[in-house]
Amino acid sequence: MNTRPKKSLGQNFLNDQNVVNRIIKCADLSNEDVVLEIGPGKGILTEKIAKVCKKVVAIEIDERLVKILYDTLRNKENIEIVHDDVLKINLPELVEKKLKTKSYKLVANIPYYITSQIIRLLLETKYPPKEMILMVQKEVAERIIAKPGNMSILAVSVQYYAKPEYLFTVPKVAFKPQPEVDSAVIRIVRNLESVNSDEENVKKFFRIVRSGFSARRKTLANNLSSSLKMDKREVEKKIESLGFLKNIRAQELRIEDWKSLANVL
Ligand code: SAM
Repeated sequence: MNTRPKKSLGQNFLNDQNVVNRIIKCADLSNEDVVLEIGPGKGILTEKIAKVCKKVVAIEIDERLVKILYDTLRNKENIEIVHDDVLKINLPELVEKKLKTKSYKLVANIPYYITSQIIRLLLETKYPPKEMILMVQKEVAERIIAKPGNMSILAVSVQYYAKPEYLFTVPKVAFKPQPEVDSAVIRIVRNLESVNSDEENVKKFFRIVRSGFSARRKTLANNLSSSLKMDKREVEKKIESLGFLKNIRAQELRIEDWKSLANVL
């Protein structure tokens, strides 16, 4: 069977046991933890996770790797491999039927071509993981943990739901085949108070955020007035009513500021 790594599926396999051990340590797993893994690849993380937790469910899209995983992990009773596309799966159903607990952790070296979709899926789903330990591209990790002044839609989307933390950098030489850029491991812990937010309010919040960021070089007022089809002077007045200068840019706002803005608009 041809087992050449597929670039189109983000197949850069971890090839450094020290990095694997550090990820496992950061995940702080006990024999009561149930873990979801996305993209187990050849199982380098999966096997180590399974040694220290109650159960691992791992979703892998590539049939060739699923076969390898079935073969190599055949005797490990607390590992379940699901052959599927994580973006097409019914996640709440998988949580109910396979993880069998709503209190689970996610530990994964995810495929980078769908990083934002995966993070969004996990934050917005009905039963989100209580904690995620994720390997992502270093530059993406930095964008996720950004502070006001450097915010982006990605930073607001994650920080609205959760507290992200940069754990450590992983150089590209730790992978085979080597990717073009370095990676980083991050922890994302959900804010419990955001779990029960009103759905309509959340939709409105993100509509305002998307509108605010619609053109990077323009001011917040310009972006909001053109995207929301509102009078620019009126938008400026609302922005000023929150104590900001009328020419402030979207990347400077904190999550609380976006919430206040959504309230006055
Ligand atoms: N966890 C392994 C490791 O650390 O060596 C592999 C990581 S590799 C960066 C990403 C893995 O995700 C690959 O095994 C790839 O086949 C798988 N993958 C890519 N797209 C996927 C999808 N949509 N759903 C599930 N798995 C996917």
